[in-house]
Amino acid sequence: MPDVVSLGEALIDFIALESGVSLIEASGFRKAPGGAPANVAAGASKLGSTTAFIGKVGDDPFGRFLEQVFRENGVDTSRMLFDSAARTGLAFISLTAEHVPDFLFYRNPSADMLLSASELDREFIAGAKAFHYGSISLISEPSKGATEAAAEIARDGGAIISYDPNLRRSLWKDEKSAKEGMISGLSGTDIVKLSEEELAFITGVSGLAEGAHMLMKLAPSVQLVLVTRGGDGAFFASRRASGHVPAFAVEPVDTTGAGDAFMGAALNQILRRGINAADLDKLKAAELEEICMFANAAGALATTKRGAITSLPTYQELQSFLAKRIH
Ligand code: ADP
Repeated sequence: MPDVVSLGEALIDFIALESGVSLIEASGFRKAPGGAPANVAAGASKLGSTTAFIGKVGDDPFGRFLEQVFRENGVDTSRMLFDSAARTGLAFISLTAEHVPDFLFYRNPSADMLLSASELDREFIAGAKAFHYGSISLISEPSKGATEAAAEIARDGGAIISYDPNLRRSLWKDEKSAKEGMISGLSGTDIVKLSEEELAFITGVSGLAEGAHMLMKLAPSVQLVLVTRGGDGAFFASRRASGHVPAFAVEPVDTTGAGDAFMGAALNQILRRGINAADLDKLKAAELEEICMFANAAGALATTKRGAITSLPTYQELQSFLAKRIH
């Protein structure tokens, strides 16, 4: 049974060939595997966790390509589903001058949106030590019901539940449904990983500590809030500890997937340390700092190459990076 089970969308990212241009100006796009939950599974796997991805792709060359990439990265694909009627989702991405991605999704509907609760392997999910999901699969049925059912099965099985509420405004009907949908995903989760913008959007509060505490109020199950802050590193908060952990200075080329690299690494560290769901809110600031430092290193390394999954570090790469930067 894999330790980390990640559920949601596996997509093809088409990344503009040039940096600093809009989607209108891009002369062409390079195909790369992506989708936040897919990236998290691959990220944790490259760092040595046993992982599985659960989700639907099209029974088309792009779906088969994603399956191949997962396998190459050691992710269990036995519970991946291939839909013969719907296509694998596509995301066209241009990188602005600041190397920040801009997204355009093709999914009307894409296969990832069609995963249903009845297709879940309950026993498999119940065996996970950590279960991760995002908010894209919460946008519409049937994937919403499938995500919620899987999280509940994993929680009942004792897994740490981890949630990344990604704000992709264009995919929701309006701001109100985006906010409500992202909040609904908080229910029952232990860890929430999000950006400052997402934290402010969900809570309506601008400060990091205030926002994190508001999140814990909105959802009492939340034990740990991780806020990723690009070149400013990360902020963590539980009910007993909080702190800032600076980023590592690197020359970023493409920040796509840095947050997913961070999350995959955080889950890898949490499980390596033998931490389970009941221990999370007892963790001291020093241990949370170490976990965030490791995750920051994974995020930093992920920005130094183009693409999301292709740029994820192995455990050795991450350790040698840390050894050079810390001593
Ligand atoms: P997301 O991909 O979700 O927007 P971030 O851009 O905040 O997430 O990146 C996640 C983590 O990756 C950050 O917390 C940081 O540790 C690392 N990171 C991202 N951008 C940079 C950067 N420019 N320099 C150094 N580290 C970075």
